[in-house]
Amino acid sequence: MPVPAIRIETLNGATPRAAGRYVLYWMNATRRSGWNFALQRAVEHAVDLQRPLLVVETLSCERPYANLRHHHFALDGMADNARGLAGKPASYYPFVENRPGRIASLLTELAKEACLIVCDLRPLRDSLRETRELARRVPVLLERVDSNGILPLKAADREFTTAHSLRRFMQKHLLAHLQQPPLADPLDGVNLPPLPSLPDTISGGWPAADRALLNGKRQRLAQLPIGQETRPLATMGGSAAAHAALEVFLREHLALYEAFRNQPQRDVTSGLSPYLRRGHLASHEIVQKLLDMQGWHPADLSLETRGRRSGWWGLSASAEAFLDQLITWRELGYLFCFKRDDYDRFEGLPDWAQATLEAHSQDPRPYLYTLRQLETAQTHDPLWNAAQMQLVREGRLHNYLRMLWGKKILHWSESPRQALAAMSELNDRFALDGCDPNSYGGIGWVMGRFDRAWGPQRPVFGKIRYMSSRNTARKVTVDGYIQRYAPTP
Ligand SMILES: Cc1cc2nc3c(=O)[nH]c(=O)nc-3n(C[C@H](O)[C@H](O)[C@H](O)COP(=O)(O)OP(=O)(O)OC[C@H]3O[C@@H](n4cnc5c(N)ncnc54)[C@H](O)[C@@H]3O)c2cc1C
Repeated sequence: MPVPAIRIETLNGATPRAAGRYVLYWMNATRRSGWNFALQRAVEHAVDLQRPLLVVETLSCERPYANLRHHHFALDGMADNARGLAGKPASYYPFVENRPGRIASLLTELAKEACLIVCDLRPLRDSLRETRELARRVPVLLERVDSNGILPLKAADREFTTAHSLRRFMQKHLLAHLQQPPLADPLDGVNLPPLPSLPDTISGGWPAADRALLNGKRQRLAQLPIGQETRPLATMGGSAAAHAALEVFLREHLALYEAFRNQPQRDVTSGLSPYLRRGHLASHEIVQKLLDMQGWHPADLSLETRGRRSGWWGLSASAEAFLDQLITWRELGYLFCFKRDDYDRFEGLPDWAQATLEAHSQDPRPYLYTLRQLETAQTHDPLWNAAQMQLVREGRLHNYLRMLWGKKILHWSESPRQALAAMSELNDRFALDGCDPNSYGGIGWVMGRFDRAWGPQRPVFGKIRYMSSRNTARKVTVDGYIQRYAPTP
């Protein structure tokens, strides 16, 4: 089955150059060798033109929060891709940027001998701009391909402001897209001519990452112009680790998901968000494995399309709850960022949320903390401090505590704009799943996005949903948690 047209966007008016040396796939977001529409599309072109396929995966030093932690995780993925594509009819070239601007110049150089270029669609400003600029610079066809979610980003021409409105839409349209998944292995059974070598200008000017760098060797990473102070973690990145985590979740935790997903101490959620964020794992693959495991058939779908959270799939309550997070909530964030340039700005919040936050912006704050105090967990609130320390030490934070974490930053910042900036800074820097459309979806939710107005109005929050550590401690067991993650004095 060819890649659905709705997932392909032509970014310039150029045509494929049949006399080029190779078809180039710039792997810039969907960092995996299977379940990847962009790779599949590049293979389709290479087969049509009977040209070698060159896969170039790049890791930027430029984005905000390129740091040791994120690089380590991403490099694990590149090492996996090097292994996964070895022996396949494609050449893999991993490039780790050592100076800003080097990825752009590498692509310009590679384009000179390419038949055409395929790249990934990542619905964030920097990435969209980067691919648009590339399209203007290169003399060959550039296609951008969407592998982000089950619903193509172009499936709807409107914005969804609540999970409920997206659910209603999905319940009418999701099945058709679900039935057009990417191939698990787009290179399986494919015959392509090999690429004998890359032009010397490339290997000399933009050397491929060697084994030491792909293995995250400390001395090599120390030479890169990236944040060196955010500690790398033991958590492995890459598709192999992602598959292992998925197996454990489906086998051991899925059945407990509905009952315990809001209990941080039970740890039954999937922990897959860092792999989804890096493109090491496809939501299509997760959904397919879950549906197979539950013996699901399309005839099990409910005909109702009223946007109910549960009961639509005809699966167990836990499976329905998990799919609601993975599809509805995750794709709500992706669709929002794709449609709105201001996804991380105060002006991107709903009008009612902006108005109520502005109206309460002069309210006295019960506590005021600087970014540094927040970062080092020096607040009066032991539960909040523990959550912040978990983020710093483990690069993750359970969704329930993450909501509280954000709400308290809003409560303790001088202004809503400062709260927004502090949340983004801490989340993107420390969380392994940070810098994702769902980072801005989650942070926006703290400030009213995808939510409704609540009463009674409260100081600082106005009509924004309120959360307190005391209430949270009543709902979830936090004693062990606070001890476990207490900041070291
Ligand atoms: C302030 C704040 C910041 C957040 N920042 C991020 C972020 O940087 N990156 C990120 O991926 N998510 C973020 N979220 C959403 C959510 O916290 C995480 O997706 C979830 O905790 C990931 O854990 P998991 O993989 O075990 O989730 P599971 O419960 O196993 O869910 C499976 C998948 O569904 C998606 N998902 C689950 N909950 C949500 C949600 N509330 N919103 C959107 N998608 C969801 C994720 O892709 C997740 O991996 C944030 C939420 C808040 C309140």
